[in-house]
Amino acid sequence: MKHRIYTGFVANPRSASARGGIHDGANTTRAQMEYFPDGAIVVTETGRIDFAGTRNDALSSYPAAEVREYPNALIIPGLVDTHVHLPQYEAAAIGTGELLDWLNTYIFPLEARFADDSYAREQSRRFFADALSLGTTTMSVYCSSQRNATERAFEAAFEAGIRVCMGKTMMDFGAPENILFSAHQNIEDSLAIAKAWHGSDDGRLQYTLTPRFAGSCSRELLRLTGDAARANSLRIQTHLSENPSELRYIAELFPEFSSYTDVYAAHGILTGQTVMAHSIYLSAQERSLLREHDCALSHCPCSNRFLQSGVMALRKSMREGFKIGLGSDVAGGFSLSMLNEAKEAAESSKTWNILNRGEETPPVNAEEALWLATLGGAEALGLEQNIGNFVRGKEADFVVLSLKDILPNHSSFSAPEQVISRAVYGAGRGAVLTTFVRGKQVFTRS
Ligand SMILES: [Zn+2]
Repeated sequence: MKHRIYTGFVANPRSASARGGIHDGANTTRAQMEYFPDGAIVVTETGRIDFAGTRNDALSSYPAAEVREYPNALIIPGLVDTHVHLPQYEAAAIGTGELLDWLNTYIFPLEARFADDSYAREQSRRFFADALSLGTTTMSVYCSSQRNATERAFEAAFEAGIRVCMGKTMMDFGAPENILFSAHQNIEDSLAIAKAWHGSDDGRLQYTLTPRFAGSCSRELLRLTGDAARANSLRIQTHLSENPSELRYIAELFPEFSSYTDVYAAHGILTGQTVMAHSIYLSAQERSLLREHDCALSHCPCSNRFLQSGVMALRKSMREGFKIGLGSDVAGGFSLSMLNEAKEAAESSKTWNILNRGEETPPVNAEEALWLATLGGAEALGLEQNIGNFVRGKEADFVVLSLKDILPNHSSFSAPEQVISRAVYGAGRGAVLTTFVRGKQVFTRS
């Protein structure tokens, strides 16, 4: 069988760290990642990882392999965006308000435009192409609320070669009429799209039931979502506890429940395949409820700041053993770049410390942030057996970044963790040389 060797500075997130234990902030650098500065990965003909280690070992163990040399380049696993809204991409970096006003002013009118098939197709293509150009190989996507637009998005993801967990955003109240559908219609359309696409191309494309949040889903829609997830073993993604006004709104809508998380629990939304975005303002009771159900968190630090939502307690959540990935939350977040999101995760963890003097925890460093943007995201989506790091047998999703572009000036700081720190803080739009999904080249810098 024909193998391919890709040489460069290889950074490989460690699997064993997954839950609890090493996320305590003390001496984590060696534990989070292993490094091969003069390294290589070897990929099989079927697009799986066969080896990760030194360049010399790869060359001597696979003498017949085709070799692609990437001198002065960093090779990392494909970046995973665990929370992003496709139809909002055009509004990235626009607006100044907080969540509920921003939705009404900018986002709902934009999402309505996706009723137009050709607009939906064009936007979907651009969205996935841009994500791949930034090194994102897996995305957990909220489409607009129209069935046709979600189908166009699946077609575009299929063609682009990206890996997605994706669904039609479901709403049956609390938004303009033209983007609302009845509870039953929402579920019927979602399951029809899931039937057509879930698991296609050997599992590269997966369907996720996507109730927007309790503020736009009736009790009936939430309950039907929980039932459909259980009956069809589907993922769920939704928003939880993002913004103070949102919390007041949910409390008014659901006075019979003791917390926002309780609303979801009562309707069967909390499962081991549920991804909760934001999750900033959670009580101890809510945190243990989420952990009991093994729900994952999608931490969206750029969005949390852009919409002035709040600062999430990242270190605390890591220590408590949550599955956590990072989400760009475009267009609450202003960029699809997951390296940018990783940088913000590290910075917002420092902001949390500043705001909680006396309870400081070690801030999350760049290596941990990169871990969250790769293997952490894979875990959050339940894909850690398939992707997230360079373990033999996993699918070869990876990114090659130009170190020349990341480190334009001579620097005497060249220890592996320093290279990673500069990559996380310094990687701009043009740093990605090429992106692979399942061993197939899906983006190359021209
Ligand atoms: Zn969101």
